[in-house]
Amino acid sequence: MEAFIDIYVFIFGLLIGSFLNVVILRLPEKKDLVFTRSACPTCGSKLKWYHNIPVVSFLALKGKCAYCEKRISWRYPLIELLTGLVAFWLLPQSISLQSMGIFLFYFTIACIFICHFFIDLDHHLLLDSLNLYLMAIILAFAVFTFHWSYWVTGGVIGFGAPLLVTWIFYKLRGQVGLGGGDIKLYGILGLYLGPTGVMFTIFLSCFVGALFGIIMIGLKKMTKDKPMAFGPAIIMVAAFQIFFPDLYYRVQQWFF
Ligand SMILES: [Zn+2]
Repeated sequence: MEAFIDIYVFIFGLLIGSFLNVVILRLPEKKDLVFTRSACPTCGSKLKWYHNIPVVSFLALKGKCAYCEKRISWRYPLIELLTGLVAFWLLPQSISLQSMGIFLFYFTIACIFICHFFIDLDHHLLLDSLNLYLMAIILAFAVFTFHWSYWVTGGVIGFGAPLLVTWIFYKLRGQVGLGGGDIKLYGILGLYLGPTGVMFTIFLSCFVGALFGIIMIGLKKMTKDKPMAFGPAIIMVAAFQIFFPDLYYRVQQWFF
């Protein structure tokens, strides 16, 4: 019975992952998410339902379009697999109304993180629509879970500190450092992570982002004057804090 539920949830995750691929592709271009059938991005051929089975179709087609045989990005099955594994991993030990609610809460956060991560890589954009959705569920959770002083100060510091730094940087150098989406995301994360937590997010994501930037410049994949997508660094650090809390608290003790 239990193995049954595990397989079920994994397949559920794969299907949601397939939907996330659509979101990542279409949401930044303001295209319809549900009613338009998927098509090959190269030749535009409409896909049949059996070309759309998560991971399986990719393997069956050997990673090529069934019509024009152009390569399909490995990112599609990767995102499906990742979402499936996250669903499986978050599944609670015992099924109750409360544990399922918590499961859905964390799974939704993970899904938004995945979309944010890849859309920011592609378009240098953390979409307001995704941020709003994330804010709504985190705020609802925070109001019922934490003392108000915790999430209010977390939100204010998460939003205010990067805004202030960006403003000072702009006044001094005439350049905008962080994008508006980054600052909003920090603010939302502050509602969940609290003041200390979100300061940790800010410090560590700047460190991770800078490190990644140096590596990319070293590998000549990026030039110094071209802006880098910063969202993925924020997402990676926040995912570490939210989904690996025990490990995070141990790391946090070295810093604060
Ligand atoms: Zn094609």
